[in-house]
Parts: sequence; C-alpha cells; structure tokens
Amino acid sequence: MKRRNFIKNASLSSVGVAVGSSILNCAENKKEDSTTTTSKTKASLPLVIATWNVPNATAKAWGVLQNNGSVLDALEQGVMIEEADEKNQSVGKGGRPDRDGNVTLDACIMNKDGDCGAVVYMQNITHAISVARKVMEDTPHVMLAGKGAEQFAVKSGMKQENLLTEKSKKEWEEWLVEKEYKPIINIENHDTIGMLAIDKNGDISGACTTSGLAYKIAGRVGDSPIIGSGLFIDNEVGGAVATGLGEEVVKTVGSFLVVELMRQGKSPQEACEEAIGRIVNKPNSNYKNFQVGYIAVNKQGETGSYSIHEWFSMTKYQDGKNENYQSDYYLKDKA
Ligand code: ASP
Repeated sequence: MKRRNFIKNASLSSVGVAVGSSILNCAENKKEDSTTTTSKTKASLPLVIATWNVPNATAKAWGVLQNNGSVLDALEQGVMIEEADEKNQSVGKGGRPDRDGNVTLDACIMNKDGDCGAVVYMQNITHAISVARKVMEDTPHVMLAGKGAEQFAVKSGMKQENLLTEKSKKEWEEWLVEKEYKPIINIENHDTIGMLAIDKNGDISGACTTSGLAYKIAGRVGDSPIIGSGLFIDNEVGGAVATGLGEEVVKTVGSFLVVELMRQGKSPQEACEEAIGRIVNKPNSNYKNFQVGYIAVNKQGETGSYSIHEWFSMTKYQDGKNENYQSDYYLKDKA
C-alpha cells in the first residue's frame, strides 16, 4: 500500500529556490507575487528524481551528490538500493522470474556526454546497473546480453548469486497453476526504477534497472535497457525515463520522444503528457489494460511526471526534501 500513501501534488513543475549551490536560471518571472520575490529563480541543485516511491534510493543518490560525488556514482548507488532490496519484486534480487522461473535483468545508464551502457537478459548478478556502467566505461560497446553480460560481470569482479527468492518462487509456482500468459502489465505490479539526477554543475545523467515483466517469455527484453525507450539524456535539454509495459514504450521510442518534445519547448510535464498521448491515441490502443509512466527533468531543473493509470508516482529529492508526488494521469476524469 505504500504507493497509495502519496503527497497529492498535481503540479509537478519544480519552482526552484535560490540557494548556495544553485546555478540554473529559470525563465524570467513576469510578475511578483507572494512566492516570487526575485526577478529570477534558480533551481536548487543537486536534484534527483526517480520513478515510484523510493525515498531510500533518492536519499542515497542525493547524499552522494551533496558530498561532491559524481553523478554516475550517485545514480548507481541510488538504484543499487532497490536492486538489493528483496522486497522490491521488479528489480534485481527478488525480482519476479520469467515463465521458466529464471530472474532476468535489464538495465542501462547514460551520462551527460551521451555515452551509455546496457545489459539485457542477464541472470545471477544482482547489480545490473553496475554491469551497465562497466559496459559504458570499460568496453567499446553499448550493450551486452545474456551469458555474455554475466561472464563480463564476473570478469569485472561481480558475485554470481541466485536471484530467485522464496517469495518470488512461491508466487511463480502459484502462477504456474493457471499459466495465464498475457502481455498485460498489472496496473500496480511493476516497479522499474528509473532515476535522473542533475549535479551541482547542472549536468544531467540517468539510470534505469528492472527485472521486467513478470512471467514473460524467456528471452523477452522490454524498454528499460533500450537507450531512447527506457531512458534518454541530452545534457543540453534534459532527461526522461519510463516504467510500465515496455512493448508500448519501445513502439513509441518514449524517453527519446519526451526529450525531443522538451527540446521543442515543451515543459517536462507537457512532454510526458504528449508521450503518453502517443500511446493511448494509437488506433486500437488497449491502454485501459496496461500502465505506462514517464518522469522527466529539463536543464532548468523543472520536473514532470505522467501516466495512463492512477497510482504512478515520482520521488524527488531537492533542497534537502525527499518527497513522493502522485502523478497526474490520462484516465483521470475519463470513465
Ligand atoms: N518497463 C519494464 C519492462 O517492460 C516493466 C516495468 O516498468 O516494471 O520490462
């Protein structure tokens, strides 16, 4: 029920507050009111946002940035919290398996220079995000898959372990009774962790990690490790990450779309809404049966978040405050 315990906040644009570490100029304020005391406001940095209600992950990342750690260290260490948390059944250790009972992980990371790394369909290594980072930093490649990714992780010093916990195993065995396979993601049953961060210099990077759709066909890969779909960063514009039914995100190249819409002048909130619109407005879209959510941040430190269904949320750590915001959603006010 923790996702239902949201702070209701329909407007997700962050109005920055000038503090010591602020460097980004937001738009000129046209008039002064009780909340606007200067002609210019600045976003308070560092800033970390993440999909869902993950205060421990955002706190970790923000702490790293606050202590002048690198933005990639912040993102990696932040999402590692969720990868290691066995209670989170959509990421890392404890993730729900595919239909054959194997937990397979997808992850990617992207930095301010447009460099990126990803792993897909990787087994037996908890911290997929660390492997993705190593792919980016230690190889000439962008993506490693399956056994190759696992071998690379082991050669890089990572520990192999069984990722299938008793709880996830038991639930999978219950699922086996009916074996109902439909590629419809339960509206609340997915938790890909996507995280975007801006460091004190104003540079943006992002990370995304998941065990993907529960009981998927063996070999299935979703949007989360696909640069441009699950995650995209353009340090001149902003960044976006996705969660939800990956097939729908891939078909619309969702995160790239959100960033390109921001480049055209849309706010992060408007860009997320239009990207969701591209999915729900497709002919024959089955959107009432699946969830997709986006979060985004622009170079000015404004943020946005939007989904198809209710109960998607974004955690934001900024200015010493770590808060969860319920996202506005397409089906609101629609029968
Ligand atoms: N986007 C993920 C996938 O399709 C699922 C999720 O967000 O939980 O693999």
